[in-house]
Amino acid sequence: MPEPIFQPLSDKPDHPGLEQEMLARWDAEETFAKLREQNRGGPTFSFVDGPVTANRMSLGVHTAWGRTLKDVFQRYKALRGFDERYQNGFDCQGLWIEVGVERSLGLNSKREIEEFGLEEFARRCREVVVQSSEALTRGSIRLGQWMDWGRDYFTFSDTNIEYIWKFLKILHGRGWLYMGHRATEWCPRCGTSLSQHELTQGGVYQERADPSLFVRFPLLDFEGQSVVVWTTTPWTLPANVAAAVHPDEEYGRRANGEWVAVKLFPEDTFVERVPGRELVGRRYRGPFDDLPPGSQVEHRVIPWEDVTMDQGTGVVHIAPGAGGEDFELSRVHDLPVLSPVDESGRFYDDYGWLHGLTTTEAADQIVGRLGETGFLVEAGLFTHAYPHCWRCDTPLIFRLSDDWFIAVDEIRPTLLDENAKVEWVPEYMGKRMDDWLRNMGDWNISRRRYYGLPLPFYPCSCGHLNIVGSRAELEERALGGLEQLEELRRPWIDRVPIRCESCGEPVERIPEVGDVWLDAGIVPFATLGWENPQWVEEGYATGAARGLTKADLPDHEYWEKWFPADWVSEMREQIRLWFYSQFFMSVALVGRSPYQRVLGYEKMLDEQGREMHASWGNTIPAEDAFARMGADVMRWQYCAQPPERNLLFGFGPAETIKREFLTFWNSVKFFVDYANTVGFGPSWSALNLEGGLDPLDRWLVERTHAFVRDAEGAYEGTLTVAVMRAYTEYLDDLSNWYIRRSRRRFWDGDDHAPFQTLWYAIVQTLRVMAPILPFVTDHLWRTLVLDGPESVHLAGWPEVPEPNRALLDEIAAVRRVVELGRQARSSSGIKLRQPLRRLVVEGTSLDGHLEEVADELRVKEVELGPVEAVELKVKPNLPKLGPKLGKELGAVREALAAGEFEELPDGRFRVAAHELAPDEVLVERGGREGWAVASGDGVTVALDLGLDDELVLEGEAYELIHQVNSLRKERGFELTDRIALTVPKAQRKLADRHGEWISREVLATSIDVGETLEIRKS
Ligand SMILES: [Zn+2]
Ligand SMILES: [Zn+2]
Repeated sequence: MPEPIFQPLSDKPDHPGLEQEMLARWDAEETFAKLREQNRGGPTFSFVDGPVTANRMSLGVHTAWGRTLKDVFQRYKALRGFDERYQNGFDCQGLWIEVGVERSLGLNSKREIEEFGLEEFARRCREVVVQSSEALTRGSIRLGQWMDWGRDYFTFSDTNIEYIWKFLKILHGRGWLYMGHRATEWCPRCGTSLSQHELTQGGVYQERADPSLFVRFPLLDFEGQSVVVWTTTPWTLPANVAAAVHPDEEYGRRANGEWVAVKLFPEDTFVERVPGRELVGRRYRGPFDDLPPGSQVEHRVIPWEDVTMDQGTGVVHIAPGAGGEDFELSRVHDLPVLSPVDESGRFYDDYGWLHGLTTTEAADQIVGRLGETGFLVEAGLFTHAYPHCWRCDTPLIFRLSDDWFIAVDEIRPTLLDENAKVEWVPEYMGKRMDDWLRNMGDWNISRRRYYGLPLPFYPCSCGHLNIVGSRAELEERALGGLEQLEELRRPWIDRVPIRCESCGEPVERIPEVGDVWLDAGIVPFATLGWENPQWVEEGYATGAARGLTKADLPDHEYWEKWFPADWVSEMREQIRLWFYSQFFMSVALVGRSPYQRVLGYEKMLDEQGREMHASWGNTIPAEDAFARMGADVMRWQYCAQPPERNLLFGFGPAETIKREFLTFWNSVKFFVDYANTVGFGPSWSALNLEGGLDPLDRWLVERTHAFVRDAEGAYEGTLTVAVMRAYTEYLDDLSNWYIRRSRRRFWDGDDHAPFQTLWYAIVQTLRVMAPILPFVTDHLWRTLVLDGPESVHLAGWPEVPEPNRALLDEIAAVRRVVELGRQARSSSGIKLRQPLRRLVVEGTSLDGHLEEVADELRVKEVELGPVEAVELKVKPNLPKLGPKLGKELGAVREALAAGEFEELPDGRFRVAAHELAPDEVLVERGGREGWAVASGDGVTVALDLGLDDELVLEGEAYELIHQVNSLRKERGFELTDRIALTVPKAQRKLADRHGEWISREVLATSIDVGETLEIRKS
C-alpha cells in the first residue's frame, strides 16, 4: 500500500490529549502572534474585558463560560480580519481580597487587622493577587483563550487609582459628591456599609428565621391603653423613638386597651374605632426607657403614609439609628436618632446590660426582658428573605454611618438616553438596566476598609473639601511623607498630609477606601490612555502592578481609536455592577456609553439544576473538566446554551456532546479512509470548486454555503447557540443525507467529484467552527489541508456566495418525505432492510427526486397522489376547545367521534357548524389494513405493506449482505479485500437468484454453499 495521503484518524478523538498537543504547537509556531500580525491595520473590533477578581487559586468552570464567549467572538472577528485588543484584566482590591487574607491569617475583626499591621496586610493582599492571577492565566490558556497574557491590567495599579481620583475630582467640580449621614446596610463583621448595588448580587438574600415579636407600648395619657407594634429585629427596640400609624386607615381598641389596625385583625372586636390621625401625637412609654438613651427620648405616635396593611399590626416601630426609612422619617418629624451598636455590631456602653452583645446575642435577652416588664404580647419565629453580606455571609444590619455619595439625579436622564442606544443581547437585560437606572439611589462609594482605592478626600476644619486629582497634585501639595509612599495605598498614603487650598492649614485624608466597582468602572479610561498626552511603555505597570504586567499606558489617540468598545460580555448580575459602574463613569466623563453592544448570560448550575456549592460537593474545578471532558467539550457546552436560561453544566451533558461530536469526526474519518484508499489528495487551490458536479454534490456545496451564511448571521448577532443549531442541522444533512446517498460513489472511487465536494464541506465547516472548538478544528485542519494555511485560525473566514435556497428547500422537502416514510415503516414493525412495493405521497411535488426517495426507503415505486389509505381520527383539544365552545362542546365531540366533519386546507376542520383551528384538535392518521401512514407539516405518506415472494427474497438478500459486511468488519478486513463467500444450504435459492448482486456488494469472488456462513480472503 502507498503511503497514506492523510494521517489516518483514530476511532474517536482524545480531546484532552490533542488539546495539549495543539497548545504546544500554537506555542512553538506562535500562531496567535501570526494572527495578530496578519490582522494589524485591519478594521477594528474593540472588546474590553471585564476584570476577573484575582482571589481564586484556580479557574472556575463558571468563569470559563464567560471567558469562552469572549474568546469565541474575538476569534470570529479575527477570522474576518479585524484588528483587536486582547487585554485581559484582573480585579485586585476590596473585600474579596481582604476577607480571604483575614481568613488565612485567622483575623476576625478590623482591630485585629490593625494590630497585625497594615503594611504587612497590604503585602499579603497583593500576594494573593499575584498567585491568583498566575493560576487564572494558566487555566485560561488551557481553555484556549487567546489573550495578550503578560500585558494584563491590574486594577490596583497606581495608574488605575489616579484615573479614579481624576474622575472624583471632576464630579466634585460639578457638585455631585457629598457626605451623607444616614442609616445604611452594614456588615458587622466587615465593619463597613454596603452600597445598593452590592445588595443586588446573587446569594445576598437568603431565607432565615428571625424572632417575630408583638410588643405593646403603653400610652402615657390614656391609662390602660397601648399601641402594639410588630418587629423581627428585637435589637432595634432599645433604639425606638416613635411608632408610626397610617393617618387614613382605621384603628381599633381591643377590650384590653391595645390599639391595632382594624384591617389586619378583621375577626377581632373593638370597643373604639378611630382613623390613625387621631392617634398621632399620643405619647407612650418606650420599651427600654430604663436604659440611659431611651430615658432621654419623648416617644410619640407619628403619621406615615407608607405604613402597609399586609402584615404586622399597622403600627410600625421606628428606630432611626437602625433603619433606612426610619432615618428619613426622623428628618421629617425631627425625631432623636439613637445609634445602639458600634462598627462591629455590638451595643455601646450606655446600653447597660446590653453592652458588648452583638445584635443576635442580644435578641434572646431582649425578649426575656420584655416579658418581665410586661411589654411583650407574643413571641414567635418568622421566616423571610434577609440580606447577608455578599462576601462573608454575615446577616446585615442597619446602622448610622457617614458615607460618601455620588448624587445621581442630575445625570440620570442622560444615563437613560445612553442606555437606550446600547444593543443588549438578550434584550430583556437592557430593560433591567433601564429599571435600575430609573430607580437607583445615590451611589455610596466609601468603605471603611484597608486594601482598596484610597479616596482622595481631605476635608478641612475650615469647611473646605480638598480633593486630590493625581499623584502629581499630591506630591505638589504634600507636607511630608512622600519618601515612604510605596504605593497610592493605605497605610502609606495616610501618612501624607497636604495643605488646605482654602486656608493653608494641614489636612489629612479620610480613612475610607472606595467601592471596588470604581476600580473596574474606570477601565475603559485607565487602560486606553484617555487624556494621556504621551504613550508610556509599560506605563500602566505602576504601584502594586509594577513587575506583574508589561501593559503600556497608551496615549489619548489610542483611546479615540478604541473607545467605545464594540462589545462587552459578562453575566447578568453585572448589569448593576460592572456594566453599570463603567457606564456611569463613562457617561459622567464623556457623555456616552463605553460599549455599543452587550452580551449577558444567566447563571451556571450543576447538571441537576442545583446551585454549585463546595459544601454540597457538586462544584467542578476547571482542571477536572479539562482532564475529563476537554476544553472543546466545555466550550461546546457553554456555546450551545441560550443566554437567557441557566446553564446546567456537568459531566453527563459532556458525554452527550462527545457522542454528538463523533458524527462529525466519523464523517471526517470516512473521508480520510476512502481518500487514502483511492489516492485522492486535494490542493488548497481546489477550494474553488468548479464544474463537473453531480446534483447531489452541487446540493452539498449550496448547503455548505447556507451553513456558512447562517453561522455568520449567528456570530454577528453574538448568539453562539444559533451557531450550534446551524451546525447540528448542517451536520445531519452532511452525514445522514450526503454521505449516505454518496457511499456508492466513494466506494467505487473512480469519480473524484464526491471526494472534492466532501473535502470542501469539511474544510469550510472547520473554519466556521474554529472559534467555538479551536483545538479539534485545528487538529483536523492540519490533517486535511496539505498545502494551505498552517492553522485554521490563520485561514480566515470562508467567503461564500449566497446559496441557492430554492434548491435547498427542494431537498429539505425530499428529506421530510423520507423521514415520514421511515416513521411509517417503524410504526409498521417492518424492517428497514425489507423492500416494499409502493409509497404514496401527498402534499409535495418531489420534482425529479422520486427515485432518490424510492432508493432511500427501499420501495419499488413512489407515487404522487391523494393518500386514500387513510383513516382520519379527529378529537377535540379540550383545554383549548372547552373554554371556547362551552355548552356546545358535547355536540362537537360527538360529531367528531362519528366522523361527521370536513377537512379544510391548512389543517382546519369544519364540524357541527364550527370551524376549528389546527391547535384546537388532535389529529391521528391511521393506516387502513395493509398500509402504514405518517403525516406532518401538510405532507402525508402511505406505505404499502404487502409482501410477495420476490420482495421477501430480496429482503433476505439485503439481510445477508448486511451480515457479511459486519463479518468483514469483525474480522478486520481492509475495505478493498476480496473474499470467498460460503452461505448455508438454506440460502441456496438466494445465491442462485441474487448471487451476482450479493458478490458485488460484499466483494466476493466466489459463492459456495456449505454448512454455515463463512468468509475468507481470496
Ligand atoms: Zn461582611
Ligand atoms: Zn481649610
